[in-house]
Amino acid sequence: MLIVQKFGGTSVGTLERIEAVANRVIETKNSGADVVVVVSAMSGVTNQLVEYSEYFSKHPDGVATDMLLSSGEQVTTALLTIALNAKGYACVGLTGAMAGIMTDDVHTKARIEKIDTTRLKAELKAGRIVVVAGFQGIDDKGDITTLGRGGSDLSAVALAGALEADLCEIFTDVDGVYTTDPRIEKKAKKLEKISYDEMLELASAGAKVLQNRSVELAKKLNVKLITRSSFNHNEGTLIAKEDNMEAVLVSGIALDKNQARVTLRGVVDKPGIAAEIFTALAHQNINVDMIIQNVGHDGTTNLGFTVPQNELELAKETMQKLSAAKHVEYDDAIVKVSVIGVGMKSHSGVACLAFETLAKEGINIQMISTSEIKISMIVDQKYGELAVRVLHDAYKLDK
Ligand code: ASP
Ligand code: MG
Repeated sequence: MLIVQKFGGTSVGTLERIEAVANRVIETKNSGADVVVVVSAMSGVTNQLVEYSEYFSKHPDGVATDMLLSSGEQVTTALLTIALNAKGYACVGLTGAMAGIMTDDVHTKARIEKIDTTRLKAELKAGRIVVVAGFQGIDDKGDITTLGRGGSDLSAVALAGALEADLCEIFTDVDGVYTTDPRIEKKAKKLEKISYDEMLELASAGAKVLQNRSVELAKKLNVKLITRSSFNHNEGTLIAKEDNMEAVLVSGIALDKNQARVTLRGVVDKPGIAAEIFTALAHQNINVDMIIQNVGHDGTTNLGFTVPQNELELAKETMQKLSAAKHVEYDDAIVKVSVIGVGMKSHSGVACLAFETLAKEGINIQMISTSEIKISMIVDQKYGELAVRVLHDAYKLDK
């Protein structure tokens, strides 16, 4: 039995917490399982490091930035290793590079390309607990890379996949996946199980339990995930294939505050314009989410799209270089609210209830997008939390 256990920033936020994590890992080791532990930086550390670099430059050098950011996870890895050793357990701490995690060279958002498991397997075979620094790897030049914010989840899932682990447990400071953020709606309930696809939508729609790329990868590699708290022994939420569970109509409501809207007015309505705009954004690695284009009028049209708030500056710079984008408006006082459930595939009318519910509260919907299992709506940020609460009620998620 091989278990990968990942501990997030708050779980390792203090020396006492790191000691508690060591004890938790020991419990698992004593149960007879081999354990690979993946750790995040102590909470707040990565933000602090980002701030340090921004003191000097808005767009700091990628190689240097990754050297800086990756240090946070290395501190935790070393401390947990020292703690486990001190408790009499054979343990080795590895950076991403030492663990064989190879990535492309897109600094600060690198993708894992492959994992050379030779060292990992040898350490496990020797009976050692292996602690790996999350969020990082190495490119083929030998430069340290990082995987994007929240990337330690991705490290854990990738390692679980490469090592064919029986289970990947993601420890955080919440008990699992809830029908919505309990800080916004007190009546939110913990879900026992959820499908990869729903989790994917919840994560990409802003439910911050798991990083979305890690869920995509878990689905692809069929890694069984459990997300649970490191602060208690409550059972968490299992994330697995959909056919293992009965389809509920709506499983959750998500709120994504990290959104900004870009609106291009009077865009020439001819073939190739959308391609030009979105190719330019793609070249900057900007993640465009929702897109709407109006029906053209007098040879021009309006085009709106959303990007992550922290990529808005780069989007602005990109738009300024495009002749197609003459009149551009930017709005970062918006949020995305999403209703999610696999049951929507086979039921109609699910969206109507969402629209009616927001209308009743006088909340204007600025953009809408739908998929088989999701309805997303952009609304003014001051109504975001209210929208979550009324939708949670409307779909009876507290029942
Ligand atoms: N420390 C990194 C971050 O804060 C990676 C992680 O915690 O997953 O984004
Ligand atoms: Mg994190």
